[in-house]
Amino acid sequence: NSSLHELDPDVAAAVDAELHRQQSTLEMIASENFAPVAVMEAQGSVLTNKYAEGYPGRRYYGGCEHVDVVEQIAIDRIKALFGAEAANVQPHSGAQANAAAMFALIKPGDTILGLNLAHGGHLTHGMKINFSGKLYNVVPYHVDEKSNLVDMDEVERLAKEHRPKLIVAGWSAYPRQLDFAAFRRIADEVGAYLMVDMAHFAGLVAAGLHPSPVPHAHVVTTTTHKTLGGPRGGVILSTQELAKKINSAVFPGQQGGPLEHVIAAKAVSFKVAASEEFKERQQRTLDGARILAERLMRSDVTEAGVSVLSGGTDVHLVLVDLRNSELDGQQAEDRLHEVGITVNRNAIPNDPRPPMVTSGLRIGTPALATRGFQDADFREVADIIAEALKPAYDAESLKARVTALADKHPLYPTL
Ligand code: PLP
Repeated sequence: NSSLHELDPDVAAAVDAELHRQQSTLEMIASENFAPVAVMEAQGSVLTNKYAEGYPGRRYYGGCEHVDVVEQIAIDRIKALFGAEAANVQPHSGAQANAAAMFALIKPGDTILGLNLAHGGHLTHGMKINFSGKLYNVVPYHVDEKSNLVDMDEVERLAKEHRPKLIVAGWSAYPRQLDFAAFRRIADEVGAYLMVDMAHFAGLVAAGLHPSPVPHAHVVTTTTHKTLGGPRGGVILSTQELAKKINSAVFPGQQGGPLEHVIAAKAVSFKVAASEEFKERQQRTLDGARILAERLMRSDVTEAGVSVLSGGTDVHLVLVDLRNSELDGQQAEDRLHEVGITVNRNAIPNDPRPPMVTSGLRIGTPALATRGFQDADFREVADIIAEALKPAYDAESLKARVTALADKHPLYPTL
């Protein structure tokens, strides 16, 4: 019954160092967030000990009466949150949710349409060496070269030409909203399923600040740890008609025992996501991203060769285009790291640089909004980023400004 520090000081020290990193720097990776302490408490609970293959009321193990309660709460809460007919809360991750959803709907060798990775899609939407690219015949669609918006004419043309069995709508790096009704119309025209992967923007949808894909899609997948702010994990929402197929694709199709401790943490985060406080936080997330985009488009910044893809944002992230900057994506990421801001470099459409270097940055606001950042704080962080991306920058003074913001909004003060 030793504590982590007593039993394993090596791991404990790394965990402590990571807590300090999160507290003392500004986290702006668009796919990250800070889970509430209660979520982490549920995830660190005795539920980790329990095997529960199957579903609530239909398990292959004894002693599931309490985890049944937990899993049913999670299912009921997320169905209510998104107005979905059915939900599977067992996928261990977003990638596994997508794998299971595809496994349920189509067969190996079938054709799928997905947004190209370099244009903002996810690995699981058809990247060559991902399971999706290996199992299915992938036809990628793209963003328009001028507008940087998904080219719906191309989606329609490719759908009619290749007659896919599944169209995937969703993204990992895209600053605008998709037209789910248009995707569904195209899917219906060619007899395809529509799957929307809302991993990135699920929190915005839950707050009513982004159109919901649920009324339009046959299946909606999501992660629970991005804008949604819960533990790492995945969820599949579907119509009642598809629920049985989805359940059997997750277990026994893709997974064994569900992680009931994570499902408990998901349930807690869905309760939080239904609150007024959560809605207000998602509004600050959006406001922060808009402020960031506006300030990175000012002339003193564009003079340094920095621009904002699509000229702004409707969501929780900004894509910075560095094709005209003296910095590449790697150098820009390193510079921001040096001043205490964590972002990730990101390929931009038609990127002239290799994927390990890139010509872009993806900068997101969910984690800082969770930390309590208000408009004035986002203005300050935007200005710090703008200064750091200019040819001449003063790392020490920018770092001091980052520290002041971190101190103003303490993270996990009770840990
Ligand atoms: N789907 C989208 C759109 C994502 O951006 C991601 C993660 O970045 C995933 C799925 C995969 O989630 P996970 O990392 O939990 O497998």
